[in-house]
Amino acid sequence: MESNRWNSNRQSLQRSRRCPETNVLYRLVYHYREELQWRWEELFQTQYGALRDEVLKSLDKYLDCGILIQGCARAVCEKCGHSELIAFSCKRRCICSSCDAKRAVIFAEHLNSCVLPPYPISHQVYTIPKRLRPYFKFNRKLNKYLYHAAWGAWQDLIEDEFPDCQSGSVMALHTAGDLLNWHPHAHALMLHGALDGAGEFHRLESHQTRKHGCL
Ligand SMILES: [Zn+2]
Ligand SMILES: [Zn+2]
Repeated sequence: MESNRWNSNRQSLQRSRRCPETNVLYRLVYHYREELQWRWEELFQTQYGALRDEVLKSLDKYLDCGILIQGCARAVCEKCGHSELIAFSCKRRCICSSCDAKRAVIFAEHLNSCVLPPYPISHQVYTIPKRLRPYFKFNRKLNKYLYHAAWGAWQDLIEDEFPDCQSGSVMALHTAGDLLNWHPHAHALMLHGALDGAGEFHRLESHQTRKHGCL
């Protein structure tokens, strides 16, 4: 009886195990991960730099993501006793679309409910000249300067318009462009104005941002 109820509920929930092993990216990584490691130096090193350990670790973790035999938990319904196996996930960035999507939703929800204040926010993109990009490719530690430069540029604008006021931002680094070309850039959610010492918000107007040659 209870299991019948579960089966009808299950159909309405439409939950079924995702099958990562059937998607094209998974099969590509599965079949070529070893070859990539052994042939990287010969084929890609001059163009992309040394193959970093983090990349290989990410590929290995990705291959285990969502695969029951690589580890799983059993979720049990206390009411009807139905249980299902749920495979562990890899929690890797930039390779696993499943973990990336989950992280993005949780992060967005956290920003929305706990971080962003109830004032106008603007989405801005900060990048660097093409001729500087190779330095960032071969020395990833330079990426932090992209954050510093973006925040510094915004601070200069804010200080010019609203001295002694404080703005704020949340930034995320992207290292590839639309065509998966090497293109380090920072996406920023900027508080579109600043708060003064008394907590009053001053909004940036378009003539103010135009004056600084942005937006
Ligand atoms: Zn149940
Ligand atoms: Zn994953």
